[in-house]
Amino acid sequence: MGRTSKDKRDIYYRLAKEQGWRARSAFKLLQVDEEFQILNGVTRAVDLCAAPGSWSQVLGRQLADVEGAKIVAVDLQAMAPLPGVVQLQGDITKESTAEEIIRHFDGGKADLVVCDGAPDVTGLHDMDEYIQAQLLLAALNITTHVLQPGGTFVAKIFRGKDITLLYAQLRVFFKKVTCAKPRSSRNSSIEAFVVCQDYAPPAGYVPTMKNPMLDVDYNDTNSALTGPNRFIVPFVACGDLSAWDADQTHALDLDTYTRLNPVQPPTQPAYKSAVEKLRSQDQVRVPL
Ligand code: SAM
Repeated sequence: MGRTSKDKRDIYYRLAKEQGWRARSAFKLLQVDEEFQILNGVTRAVDLCAAPGSWSQVLGRQLADVEGAKIVAVDLQAMAPLPGVVQLQGDITKESTAEEIIRHFDGGKADLVVCDGAPDVTGLHDMDEYIQAQLLLAALNITTHVLQPGGTFVAKIFRGKDITLLYAQLRVFFKKVTCAKPRSSRNSSIEAFVVCQDYAPPAGYVPTMKNPMLDVDYNDTNSALTGPNRFIVPFVACGDLSAWDADQTHALDLDTYTRLNPVQPPTQPAYKSAVEKLRSQDQVRVPL
């Protein structure tokens, strides 16, 4: 980072240095907690996409006096050790990562899952929003494996045009969903945080990583989605029963039928009037 970098003039960057946080993002989680008290009563917490570890530091400091507190931090990248935090180097889109988290909780589930995950930004806004949404869905997926009913999920979200779809998906699993913009998150950034409270999956829901939007091998025959895991879309047959059946061969009345050549000119091509206009201009053009 250069001397004139904007980050170095940023108040949260300086405060993070002063107070010993690994990244200025620590203030985002602290401010979310100030507003929603997400850390109240938490014993087991998971930090998804944790590196370099400032959110894990916040969790570690706030839960330091809680008896039996356990924090598991997951990231693709390795990070320097933190007191009271178990680190897993892994991918949050993998079921094995969910299993490993649960192993660290001795089979128990978490009270809180936080995710500040961000893919590498490409600068192409639509693409970045899409990838961020996919990462959020991956975080939601793994959260359904490790969070206990009543628990809280906090995740970074980009407030793009498809945000209502994400809200709807989150509302399937949580009784209360709020979008929070901490003061420490730059106004110029479309970043915000969804605070999802009171985890209550639909009755009969079985956590699965087989999300059609995330699983490239997904197809109808290998799909593990059954019961409430499946989305049911109404099927409507349109048209009168006496209309032609497209799958049947219908006999021709050869007395009245007029045969046509297999290749026919377009009936009313869209360019017809433009061509006619050009032709008529050609006719009036004075030769040089
Ligand atoms: N909350 C962190 C902190 O306060 O220090 C900062 C997180 S950083 C903005 C985003 C992290 O997401 C990166 O470290 C990246 O490696 C991680 N990440 C992105 N995709 C991931 C994935 N599929 N599985 C695990 N981590 C992932």
